[in-house]
Amino acid sequence: MDIRAYDSIIIGAGAAGMHCAAIAAQRARKVLLLDHAKAAGEKIRISGGGRCNFTNLYCGPQNFISENPHFCKSALAGFGPQDFIKLVEQSGISWFEKTFGQLFCQKHSGQIVQMLLNRCLDNGVDLRLQSKVLDVKNSKSGFDLATSIGHFKTKSLIIATGALSIPKMGATGFGYDIARQFGLNIITPRPALVPLQVSHVFKQPVSQLAGLSLMAEVSCGSQSFTEAILFTHRGVSGPAILQISSYWASEQAITVNLAPGVDMLSMAKAARTKHPKQSPAKFMAGILPNKLAQIIAATISHQRLADMSDNHLQQMTDKVQRWSFVPEGTLGFRIAEVTAGGVDTKALSSKTMEAKSVPGLYFIGEVVDVTGHLGGHNFQWAWASANACARAL
Ligand SMILES: Cc1cc2nc3c(=O)[nH]c(=O)nc-3n(C[C@H](O)[C@H](O)[C@H](O)COP(=O)(O)OP(=O)(O)OC[C@H]3O[C@@H](n4cnc5c(N)ncnc54)[C@H](O)[C@@H]3O)c2cc1C
Repeated sequence: MDIRAYDSIIIGAGAAGMHCAAIAAQRARKVLLLDHAKAAGEKIRISGGGRCNFTNLYCGPQNFISENPHFCKSALAGFGPQDFIKLVEQSGISWFEKTFGQLFCQKHSGQIVQMLLNRCLDNGVDLRLQSKVLDVKNSKSGFDLATSIGHFKTKSLIIATGALSIPKMGATGFGYDIARQFGLNIITPRPALVPLQVSHVFKQPVSQLAGLSLMAEVSCGSQSFTEAILFTHRGVSGPAILQISSYWASEQAITVNLAPGVDMLSMAKAARTKHPKQSPAKFMAGILPNKLAQIIAATISHQRLADMSDNHLQQMTDKVQRWSFVPEGTLGFRIAEVTAGGVDTKALSSKTMEAKSVPGLYFIGEVVDVTGHLGGHNFQWAWASANACARAL
């Protein structure tokens, strides 16, 4: 049997896998990069609406969710947003800051895929697509792999197969299976950065508001985000909802301030004095989109502000500024941008991403229990964890 040997074999030619392969090969390691898909970096290609939000200028440990919030610190300190920007600029890719430090390609996300591929190929990475890993075994000298394209051996095996989000794009639980095979714990994976399912809002079918978007402060437990929310045919979405979804657990209530930064109660009291005949709907339409104001007003029994006591005005204000609902669920892995949970960081070295109990086995990127906020943080984790690993190979 022909068995080819490599210093490092990386499974998964996505963001983390390609970045890791390029750095390791640059450091004169003989690297094989395997992927079962037809093309490398497919999630990068569709990311950021086709423009790839490849990092965030303000990325830091505060932007990540993990059972161990300290785990990401070392890798992020070793490879920050400026390090990736340098690579982007060296490749002549022009970029722009959209908002909140989010950096996007000026042209298209395919440029980032090409940059990573070029870095791999220029440094001699052996990239094999459409290759299935059939079996992984530990051996005295490292790991033996049986794949659809032959047998390989390596001193270090890097799992960069991402997680469960968007199975249609080739997402698999392969990384978790390998972790379990070697006795590593998995923090239960769950869809994150995902729309929430709600059938009715203010007693009306949510579809009545589909397409309506506004700025809101969305809270769950002690977390809150002030960004846009969007009503859809199936529930609520938009950046603020995607962000809070990563913190939401089944049956928890979400609270939304639909008019953040507005002293609505004082405004309502002043309006009652100045325009006593004004309807609650008309008053709220000065603060909210008209359609939403109408739907909320339909739950109020008074026709005129003049007929409303301070208590009634407070109740109206609460409907707008403390709207609370319990989502029926999320829209699931089918459309979740990322997967929260994953390989338990307790099992890994935060300096190198190596499994503490299995020398030579590494996990990088989304497969690890480190999940970023919306806004370029997930790619920054992919780059940073890949860099930490590659420098240890
Ligand atoms: C629609 C969408 C938009 C997004 N936009 C952004 C954004 O703008 N900014 C941001 O920071 N993040 C964004 N993300 C999240 C980001 O794409 C991921 O966090 C990131 O790609 C994770 O990198 P990774 O290398 O760990 O995994 P991936 O990029 O998912 O790569 C995993 C690779 O492993 C391969 N693979 C899987 N299973 C196997 C197997 N069994 N055998 C062989 N190969 C396998 C896959 O084919 C894939 O190539 C977005 C995600 C989605 C779905």
